[in-house]
This record gives sequence, structure tokens and C-alpha cells, in this order.
Amino acid sequence: MNNKLICISKWEKSSLSINLDSYPNNIMYNHGTLNEIKSNKLPIEDSDRIMDMRKSAEAHKQVRKYVQEMIKPNMKVFDVCEKLENKIKTLFPNNDLKSGIGFPVSFSINNCVAHDSAIPNDTRIIKENDIIKVDFGTHVNGNIIDCAFTVAWNEEYKQLIEASKNATWNAIKLAGVDSSIKDISNEIKETIESYEVEIKGKVYQIKPVSNLGGHDIYPYKIHGGTVILCDPIKYNMMLSNDQLNSLRMKDNTCYAIETFATTGNGFVSNDPDLPTTLYSKNYMNNINYNPKLNLSKKLLGYINKTRSSLPFCTRWLKNGFQKYKVPLNELVKNDVITSYPPLSDIKDSLSSQLEHTIYLHEYGKEILSHGDDN
Ligand code: MN
Ligand code: MN
Repeated sequence: MNNKLICISKWEKSSLSINLDSYPNNIMYNHGTLNEIKSNKLPIEDSDRIMDMRKSAEAHKQVRKYVQEMIKPNMKVFDVCEKLENKIKTLFPNNDLKSGIGFPVSFSINNCVAHDSAIPNDTRIIKENDIIKVDFGTHVNGNIIDCAFTVAWNEEYKQLIEASKNATWNAIKLAGVDSSIKDISNEIKETIESYEVEIKGKVYQIKPVSNLGGHDIYPYKIHGGTVILCDPIKYNMMLSNDQLNSLRMKDNTCYAIETFATTGNGFVSNDPDLPTTLYSKNYMNNINYNPKLNLSKKLLGYINKTRSSLPFCTRWLKNGFQKYKVPLNELVKNDVITSYPPLSDIKDSLSSQLEHTIYLHEYGKEILSHGDDN
């Protein structure tokens, strides 16, 4: 067994670890990888937002490097999640609505594909044969960088990791103003299905996770409503053929491009074995609800003040909110807060993910989160 982390390239750039909040406002952050450049000037209208996204991306890259060097088998899941989020707080010490954690780290292991994280008092230990999807967000003025990578130590998983990596990059290549979302979805499916993997002597045809995918991102709003599914067949449940054919990517828009590959059925559902830990305020409809319980009122006030519509997790509910379950349930039942349960494929399956945040603007296609790792 190889004890070295696989799937990670070398980080060439030295890591800054200073407080990005204290940087003067006029500093230039490195831009992401640029494609299809049309002009050397940033569109004035969006330049503040683009600068914020670049700053947010710089923080994401530094935290990723730190995590990839630190994570090892036998560590506690809880400790890795806390260390990761604490690293974001060293870069953005205020960690408030102006800058900080965009959403809690998703730490989804093996057949769990998305939306798990350490719960309070989590006792799980990382194992040598685990394959972990590490998905976290940083934000500056609500401009969220949503970027994820896969961690494993077992060399047998390499093709599974390659499948989502290549699918995400093929999707990024097709992305652009007016690109057909159906075509991108199809490209993701075909790329992932071209892979197989042999694990413990058994060969698996790798499948895309058909009911998960990328999405548009707006300030303080991680899921904008457009989805770029890993398999176009699943649009059947949401859209007519005409609607799907006319679904195109838009100018001056931020997209998370993410793909998931699995040795399972290629379909995720709520995992009954894992407790729900991720939540956010329901920003889809503006609900005017007056909580009945005092603690629910307090909790809602706390979330409004510290997170607004940015996601949070139960691990963060300390100081007076240790007994969060009943108040949180009241808010979820009345649609003020939305819960995001862990999503898993079948038991004993394994899965991988790669995600990048890109921005489509007149200047070109900018892969904001692209770093030395993937
Ligand atoms: Mn993500
Ligand atoms: Mn995403």
C-alpha cells in the first residue's frame, strides 16, 4: 500500500499565509487560467466582482494546498474539517458576511458523494482505503468560490479519480457564452463512461452520478437555479426537450463546473445512515415566519446575522446553541431553513469529484479556482 496521497500534483508557488482581509484594496490578485481571451480589459461593470472572486480563489488555493499536505489516514474526520475551516479563518479573520467561509467543508467518504461533514463529537477516523470528496467554499462580499477535489491513498482508485477530473475539464472546455448545457452534460456522461477501474480484482464500468452536477452562482447564493447535470437523461424529469435544447450558458455569469464518477448505480439519494449537518436559509422564497420557540427565534437571528443565505453546519452551532435539534427542526419544517442531507450511491460503491468555479465575461473564460493541483 502506498502511503502517499494520489491525484495531487506539485504546488509550485510558495504559499502565502497572511491575512487577506488586511490587504489593501487596490492589490491585484492573480487571475485564474484564462481561455478564449477577447480583450485585455476587464468589463468595468463587473470588475469589482471579478476582483473579489479572484481574492476568494486565492484563498481557496492556499487552503487546498494546506489540506493536501496535511491530510493523512488515521486522522480524525472532525480534526481535518476543523483545521481546514480554521485555515480559511487565518486568511479572513473576521469570517463574516464580507469575507470568510463560503460554505462548510463537505467531507464525503466512499459511497457518500456529497453533503456530508463532521458532526459535533464526530468520532470517525480516516482509513487508508477511503476515497474522500473535499468540497469547500471561500467568499469575498458573497462571491463564492466553489471548488472540490478528491483525496485517496490507494493507487487502485486512480482511474476513478481521472474520470471525474477529465470530465470536469472537458466540460470546462465546452463552456462559454451560448454553449449548450445539454451538450456539456452529454460530454460529461461520455467522458466518465469511457473509464473502467479494477479494484480488488473486480472490474467496474465507471458511471456518472446522473442526478448531481454543476450550477450557476450569484452573490450569497450558491445554487442559482440552472443545473449542468452529469447525465442529460435526468433533465427528462425537469424540462421538455425544447426547454433543454434552448438551455444555454450566459454572459457575465459565474458557474461551478463539477462532475462525479462512481462505481455504483450512478444515482444518489438521501443517506439514512448519515445525520444531516448542512443547512442554509431558504433563499428561493422570502418566507415571513415568526418562530414559536424562543430558541428558534435566537437561532434564526444568529443565522441572519452571521450567515444570511450562506450555508452553515451543525458543528458551528456552539455557545448557547448546543441543543440545536428542536429549534433547527422548527425552522426547517416551516421552510425558513433548507436542510441538505448527505447524498450517497449504493453501499460499498466508491466515488470521485472535481469541481472548479469559472466566470464567463467579455474578457474571456476565466477558470478562477484553477491551481497547481488539478
Ligand atoms: Mn462544491
Ligand atoms: Mn457546487
